[in-house]
Amino acid sequence: MTADVIIIGAGISGAAVARELSRYKLKIVILEKEAEPAFGVSKSNSGIIHAGTQNPPSSMKGWLCVEGNRLMREELAADLGLNFAQCGQLIAAFGPEDLPELEKIKKEGEELGVKGLALVDRAWLDRNEPNLGPEVKAALYVPSAGIISPYRFVYALVENAVRNGAELRTSRKVTAVRRPEGGGFEVVAGGEVYRAKFLVNAAGLRADEVSALAGAPAFTITPRKGEEYLLDKKLGHLANHIIFPLPSKNSKGILIIKTADGNPMIGPTAHDTEDKDDLSTSDEGLAEALAGARRLVPSISKGDIIAYFSGLRPVSGKDFIIRHEDSVPGLVTVAGIQSPGLTAAPAIAGMVADILKKRGLKLEPKENFHRLRPRPRHLTELTPAETRRLLEKDPAYGDIVCRCELVSAAEVRDAVKRGARTLDGVKFRTRAQAGRCHGGFCTTRIIKIMQEELGLPVTAVTKRGPGSELIKDERK
Ligand SMILES: Cc1cc2nc3c(=O)[nH]c(=O)nc-3n(C[C@H](O)[C@H](O)[C@H](O)COP(=O)(O)OP(=O)(O)OC[C@H]3O[C@@H](n4cnc5c(N)ncnc54)[C@H](O)[C@@H]3O)c2cc1C
Repeated sequence: MTADVIIIGAGISGAAVARELSRYKLKIVILEKEAEPAFGVSKSNSGIIHAGTQNPPSSMKGWLCVEGNRLMREELAADLGLNFAQCGQLIAAFGPEDLPELEKIKKEGEELGVKGLALVDRAWLDRNEPNLGPEVKAALYVPSAGIISPYRFVYALVENAVRNGAELRTSRKVTAVRRPEGGGFEVVAGGEVYRAKFLVNAAGLRADEVSALAGAPAFTITPRKGEEYLLDKKLGHLANHIIFPLPSKNSKGILIIKTADGNPMIGPTAHDTEDKDDLSTSDEGLAEALAGARRLVPSISKGDIIAYFSGLRPVSGKDFIIRHEDSVPGLVTVAGIQSPGLTAAPAIAGMVADILKKRGLKLEPKENFHRLRPRPRHLTELTPAETRRLLEKDPAYGDIVCRCELVSAAEVRDAVKRGARTLDGVKFRTRAQAGRCHGGFCTTRIIKIMQEELGLPVTAVTKRGPGSELIKDERK
């Protein structure tokens, strides 16, 4: 297959680049090693659309974050039907000794263009954040920060890119990148060869390995693990903002995070590790998350935790690496996309398009670019009157599959029609299996729906791709 641009990796970076390039008359192919997009770092994070504070004003990640935040608030949330909520953020000070640091964060944020920053006192906090502990004396209020479902953000970008002609090829691990004499690239993935003049390496934790395959100058990705702990939905009103302590050397600290799905979350920890596949959680991580969170909101207890996960930040130095590799003409590296990569991705995509244009890619706008993507319907987001109207039109919305999260058969079918190919893909899109029972009641029903929609035998339905089948055919 011959394309104009091949993008390696369907995380938030690759998805945003694909959607941005799909505005133009180009043949775009996305190659992803996993069974679905958003199965890498982009699924395991805090889901915060950062404002841009807590980044050095001279950093690339700082200005890309501010621009990504603006794009989300002013364009993307509405265009792509995203569940973004601008709830604002507080950075807490525990005493007068913290105030100079808070002032510094405010000044640096303002230099980056973050708007509306204000120092607030304990009286303000008592009115607006009543569950804060007594240790918190003041805070920096950051109104433009918000929250989103990270994987649904990726799915929306990919879905819209595909609607605009991009091709998504999953279960295609890139194993070789050849550079033929006439220029361009031959990329071997899943036993097939893909050709293109331009190549974008957005392979997350593996970007250093993909770069080496292409013969580009070496860099190293070091995973920095973050453990996160999800609390019961009944604590949905624990905090009105995302609450941060002052940042540490390596991270933004342990936070109280509102999430787009209503369960508050505490974490993430930040510890460098060597293993790019180590997604384990630990007793030490739990203790660290609980201690940090309780300093901000003391009422949180261990019994409130209903689920946990860890994610690995793909770290390479202190900033993102986004550049054309002059020694490998046509190769653009998008690597070291640590936090705030989820926020910055749409701005990263604009930067990548500019780099490609400078290197000779013709960006001719499509007359029929579909900017809008209809928002998937979720029963939990509807009023009773809206639910009644929907049920009159389509009774399948009354056929409840997941009782914990109130997800109907119609939502599961819609998720499959929009691209879900695994049980996790259905979960991330709809929340079915994400509640207290962890899928105990609904998994078999979802498998049945996937079987009907995809025409697959039940033995071919997997949790997250080949090797994670739930039902075995004993005759084989
Ligand atoms: C604990 C934690 C909390 C975070 N919180 C936030 C936050 O609140 N806000 C924020 O803005 N950012 C946050 N981040 C950062 C954010 O998650 C990352 O910056 C972002 O997800 C990186 O996306 P990516 O697309 O570059 O990488 P990925 O999502 O990992 O995508 C790379 C893709 O490339 C694929 N791939 C790899 N190798 C190959 C190959 N050889 N062939 C084909 N495909 C390949 C992978 O399977 C993967 O899907 C957090 C990160 C962590 C770990």
